[in-house]
Amino acid sequence: MAEATTRKPLISGNWKMNLNHFEATALVQKLVYELTTADYEAVDVAIHPPFTDIRTVQTYFLAEKDPPPIIIGAQSCHWEDAGAFTGEVSPAMLAKLDVQFVLAGHSERRELLGETDEVVNRKVIAILRNGMTPILCVGETLDEREAGATESKVGGQVEAGLTGLSPEQVGGMVIAYEPIWAIGTGRTATPDDAQEVCGRIRRQVADLVSPDVAASLRIQYGGSVKAENTAALMTCPDIDGALVGGASLEADSFAAIVRYRDWT
Ligand code: PEP
Repeated sequence: MAEATTRKPLISGNWKMNLNHFEATALVQKLVYELTTADYEAVDVAIHPPFTDIRTVQTYFLAEKDPPPIIIGAQSCHWEDAGAFTGEVSPAMLAKLDVQFVLAGHSERRELLGETDEVVNRKVIAILRNGMTPILCVGETLDEREAGATESKVGGQVEAGLTGLSPEQVGGMVIAYEPIWAIGTGRTATPDDAQEVCGRIRRQVADLVSPDVAASLRIQYGGSVKAENTAALMTCPDIDGALVGGASLEADSFAAIVRYRDWT
């Protein structure tokens, strides 16, 4: 099995439906100023702005003398490449914009917009078909956790999300474990709780696909991540990064999370 140390940490900022394109420019201007080559060497840094900001942010990066290696992600996409789907955004169009990561099945889309496991799987397949990397989001509600159903809920989402993928596709993707009760609530899972679920996800992928594939897949934790709790989460052997919501909306707090190594 490949060593965990070969998995480069991935810290991703999910801006959700926040920041217009002027505000986005102001944020990335500060972020680029704060992050250093050493940060990018240690950690892959990605941001997932709203669709309307993507081109603006990208243009800003490309205008820099040394464009920063900040990876652009999207928050969702449709499962078809084109067609009569009013209001939707095509994965082919995102790929054309050099978007590299796309979230699939964020809990807000599952809970508020009715995305089912089947829809999420179709999106994962569409993202891969277009040469981008899906970040498959999974996680349980508080009621499910208290009822002892975390394993069946998360395990079911993982199995459904990976249906029909080749081992190479699974090995190159990212799974984000985001307990719903921790998202936007200020309540973070303890490192032990997060590790328990992330470790189980990796063992499940080893069983479903292979130990080598499981060893190369990156697993993020998400849910009220901030600079103060990132270092402890990142010591967990099966946590390879963080999906950050609220704390990614300020350059200072997001940069401090990227530099979690300084907090140990
Ligand atoms: C998220 O949106 O994926 C998230 C984890 O949000 P927050 O960090 O605000 O809890």
